[in-house]
Amino acid sequence: MNLQNPGLLRSTNLIDGKWVGADSGATLTVVDPASGERIAEVPRCGAAETRRAIAAADAALPAWRALTARQRGQLLLAWQRLILDHADDLAALITAEGGKPLSEARGEATYGASFVEWFAEEGKRTYGESIPSPNPATRLLVVKQPVGVCAAITPWNFPLAMITRKVAPALAAGCTVVVKPAEATPLTALALAALAEQAGFPAGVLNVVTGDPVAIGGELCASPIVKKLSFTGSTAVGRKLMAQCAPTIKKLSLELGGNAPFIVFDDADVDAAVEGALVAKYRNTGQTCVCANRFLVQAGIYEDFASRFAARAAELKVGAGSEPGVAQGPLINAAGLAKVEAHVADALAKGARVLCGGARHARGGNFYQPTVLADVTRDMQVAREETFGPLAPLFRFEREEEAVAMANDTEFGLAAYFYSRDIGRAWRVGEALEYGMVGINTGLISNEVAPFGGIKQSGVGREGSKYGIEEYLEVKYLCFAVG
Ligand code: ADP
Repeated sequence: MNLQNPGLLRSTNLIDGKWVGADSGATLTVVDPASGERIAEVPRCGAAETRRAIAAADAALPAWRALTARQRGQLLLAWQRLILDHADDLAALITAEGGKPLSEARGEATYGASFVEWFAEEGKRTYGESIPSPNPATRLLVVKQPVGVCAAITPWNFPLAMITRKVAPALAAGCTVVVKPAEATPLTALALAALAEQAGFPAGVLNVVTGDPVAIGGELCASPIVKKLSFTGSTAVGRKLMAQCAPTIKKLSLELGGNAPFIVFDDADVDAAVEGALVAKYRNTGQTCVCANRFLVQAGIYEDFASRFAARAAELKVGAGSEPGVAQGPLINAAGLAKVEAHVADALAKGARVLCGGARHARGGNFYQPTVLADVTRDMQVAREETFGPLAPLFRFEREEEAVAMANDTEFGLAAYFYSRDIGRAWRVGEALEYGMVGINTGLISNEVAPFGGIKQSGVGREGSKYGIEEYLEVKYLCFAVG
């Protein structure tokens, strides 16, 4: 791979300020999902290396916690600047191991850096309060203190931003961290660690361990030293980790799966809805937890919306993320591709109609055509499960209450979207949707200043915004007797 700064391509882990391999010397192969070719090898670490990383984070904690928020913020800002300065290299790594188009990868680097900048500042604003006492002889104070050693387990679909969204608030709050990146995308994580080292973080403050998820995750969850786990990934794995954290009563932040509805009402601006739908569905080839999974379209504009949306989806250029003009990269792996195929086959067998796509792409490999299906019904698999791929199923509804009931008929509650020009309906539907985030007349909702997170089985806690740093802080109450 050609990087401007070849030092960002790392084949070892950062543990206690040293770059080290696995004890066994074993490695994990990183593959380009567009070509299937091997890109690099990284350490296949397990429990022993993880224990050392946890010990390093624990040893680094007292000095790190004792710095002022401004001192920690200065280091975070140095890291943020390095991320932006090396955004082209980071984007190249993200595209190489994750498959997304380079323009999206570049966007992720900027988006990821924005969390570092935001929390460098927010660290200074972890205010406590004084509480008027019911007793004239006491004074009551509340202070915020760092949780301690934190673990972060991150997914492959945003290999950079999901790390900075956890690590930046943790470090800003005075916590130290052990990160376990996804097996598919460790290179971006290691490049971020190299830039953190360059920024001047002390040894042990940030550690990155790659390898066996079960062994590393098991150690992170079981360790009594680790006080908190922040996880982004599937609901199935989140559920397992939550159980594994129960014996040590760890604090948890979980960003899990979604089943996002995208509702288009008869009174919508259809052109705007089509544009929003393209962004909400096909970003990262449909592989984000906030990607629209179900399109609910009101009967009066159903055919109009369907034909315009399908025409635009069919124009999306499919190819390797590194090729110019590509809007749709490959699926991450064969399992990702198989899930899209299964959902399409199930829908077609039960009477859905193909408006565009509907099959693997002629390029072969992990490529699938951007697909729009009409006449989708609630008995089909796509109604219940997150496809995590470039499939847009269009359901039909008649009345507003019916749309809201369909939208809420899922155990998930991450993101929802709807298009309407009726202000009363916008309030009603916005309030009635059982989701942590609602996009109203927009398909793009994520930024560093707003609280990202889900309700129901989509997770626990919020990331980004002023709420994001609270996840890494404990509330301590001090009661002073004044004599
Ligand atoms: P996805 O479907 O997006 O790959 P996963 O939930 O499988 O989501 O993966 C998200 C993260 O969880 C990855 O870093 C992966 O390695 C990790 N992971 C998967 N299984 C386990 C496990 N049993 N214990 C700890 N981490 C795991």
